[in-house]
Amino acid sequence: MPEKNQIFEAEITDLTAEGNGVCRADGMAVFVPGTAVGDIAEIKTVKVLKSYAFGILEKIIEPSPDRIENSCEVYKKCGGCLFRHISYEAECRTKNKLVRDAFERIGGLSPEFESFLSAETTEHYRNKAQYPLANENGRAVCGFYAPRSHRLVPVTDCALQPEIFSKILEAVLAYINEKKLPVYDESRNTGIMRHIYIRRGAHSGEIMVCLVVRKDVSRQLSALCRALTEKFGDIKSIVMNINPDKTNVILGNRCMTLWGSDTISDTMCGNKVNISPLSFYQVNTLQAERLYAKALEYAAPEKSDTIADLYCGAGTIGLSMAHKAARIVGVEIIPQAVENAKCNAALNSIPNAEFYCGDAGEFFGKLRIDGCSPDIIVIDPPRKGCSAETIDVIAETAPRKIVMISCNPATAARDAKLLADKGYSVDKVCGVDLFPRTGHVECAVSMSRKK
Ligand code: SAH
Repeated sequence: MPEKNQIFEAEITDLTAEGNGVCRADGMAVFVPGTAVGDIAEIKTVKVLKSYAFGILEKIIEPSPDRIENSCEVYKKCGGCLFRHISYEAECRTKNKLVRDAFERIGGLSPEFESFLSAETTEHYRNKAQYPLANENGRAVCGFYAPRSHRLVPVTDCALQPEIFSKILEAVLAYINEKKLPVYDESRNTGIMRHIYIRRGAHSGEIMVCLVVRKDVSRQLSALCRALTEKFGDIKSIVMNINPDKTNVILGNRCMTLWGSDTISDTMCGNKVNISPLSFYQVNTLQAERLYAKALEYAAPEKSDTIADLYCGAGTIGLSMAHKAARIVGVEIIPQAVENAKCNAALNSIPNAEFYCGDAGEFFGKLRIDGCSPDIIVIDPPRKGCSAETIDVIAETAPRKIVMISCNPATAARDAKLLADKGYSVDKVCGVDLFPRTGHVECAVSMSRKK
């Protein structure tokens, strides 16, 4: 067992879902951030636990062939990108392996693993950014919080965001500083300006700027609206969101449109969607479309099928399948998202989709009692996966096919295994990279009822 502060030489042989390299010291696994598979390096242990340890990189003796120069100046401080120091190809190899390992090791399953869907664009791909504000030497700055902290790392030109966001941020910051609008102080719940939040439709190019404030300062922002809209023709909406609470939740419940329309529009899988500041919308539109196309391929609906879309958010997955099926029934727990889903159905003249607000398992159980018996169930749960109750209800419904989409391969594998034990075969799994350069990866799973 290694000791604390021991320095040793080792080769990095693996990368974890947290982006840590793995090597061995005296037979024990040591996790080392910022390393790459194939690095031969001097490592110093900083924390030794019962069965594993953490180390830091002291010196690279021989760099891994996966390593690349990285041009982001804040990469090490901001923590948003875990894989910026290795090539994108190496990143996809790692993510594909993470998905595979989850299903094989956690799930004990052996589905067909389809080719990983890597992204064509690895920079500027996000359609949304939320920047907290802070005071630095008496001036307002914005950026991102360092990992597991509320210490601001100033950034205006994050490489994952559309380039125009940095120009908008600079204009907003200049205004805040010129007018001396006080920046919000989290510890005392004083000051005004909390976050600058920007969204941009990937297909439409329409931009929404949302200023999150502690209290209504609409009068002080009218000149900013004029300045922004004169300079940036793609801005279609400027909204003020009021969040009066002492909380680290970014958005409050109240939105006031200061200029233009209440929403921006975009298209997703050919359907028009209206996006408000509060609505959930996948941050990487182009890759989300490929993920949903994969879900449709796995679902392979027949014209007479009823499809349940559980955890449906604003309904984008179900709506993308509506023209291929008889009926879509969506269930989602956030009321505003359900409203968005209904609006999106109406906006696209989709008559065969219904959306309900409730817990996926509980509400769906009631629908079943009312005679709703879908042929296909699509599930897209949050990171923690499905509740045991939801898995039971799905299995009791006995649909012909289950398609699972997940942003967490570990819980996806766990839930797939539970469904496998209840009579489903886990046929195919496909990893999809919605979040290049970061540690996150999505997967789609195709399951069918055993004969
Ligand atoms: N399918 C959507 C949203 C996926 S994100 C899309 O692709 O855009 C997961 C969704 O599950 C979120 O909208 C979240 O609000 C919802 N959710 C979380 N817990 C839930 C529960 N217990 N029952 C129903 N929906 C839930």
